[in-house]
Amino acid sequence: SYTHRLDRFISQNSPHSISDTRLLVAQKRIIVDGLVAHSTHQKVTQFTEVELDGRCLQNNKPIYIMLHKPQGIVSATKDLKHKTVLDLIDHPQKEQLHIVGRLDFNTTGLVLLTNDGAWSRQISLPQTKLAKVYEVTLSKPLTDEYIQVFKEGIYFGYEDITTKPADLEILSDYKARLSLVEGKYHQVKRMFGFFQNEVLALHRVSVGNISVDGLESGQYKEFSID
Ligand code: URA
Repeated sequence: SYTHRLDRFISQNSPHSISDTRLLVAQKRIIVDGLVAHSTHQKVTQFTEVELDGRCLQNNKPIYIMLHKPQGIVSATKDLKHKTVLDLIDHPQKEQLHIVGRLDFNTTGLVLLTNDGAWSRQISLPQTKLAKVYEVTLSKPLTDEYIQVFKEGIYFGYEDITTKPADLEILSDYKARLSLVEGKYHQVKRMFGFFQNEVLALHRVSVGNISVDGLESGQYKEFSID
């Protein structure tokens, strides 16, 4: 993913040089997103459509996919042994997709895929404070103590970090809803591991305002942002 000026894009995608572009613009030979180019400095991103002399130089559409990941599927684009989330998707440009936040092999629920690196970086930043909500099934009964401990954060020695304040809502003795703003490796399991409480089932319900509700296990759909 990148942002360029139009003249740089033209020099990298046609026989014309950066300095040629001024004349091409004046001669109205460049079309940007359906409109005659007006400046050698106008912005071109990976998703800007550019034509020169009626020929397409670039035409990529951003793709956003929400998938309900089943158990026993790898959150990767390639795997030698197991089926991957990409194997569940039928899209002509699926080779462009990357996964926004991985889920463990046996975790179910919402996985986002996109070819828009600017978007996926943005939503993965802890500063963005996007809530990732999980439904968790535990092996031992929950107590109110967990709520305070998760709010204060748990120290992870391996990374030398303390987890950001997390919201725990206890739904029943063995079930809770946990809301995180970050995604450290095996974070949910390690947070309950602090209490020696094993996670028996883990399901991601939502990321920000994107929810898996309405998607059957294994189903996906495309959506748009803004
Ligand atoms: N935390 C985990 O431990 N596993 C997941 O799959 C997601 C969050």
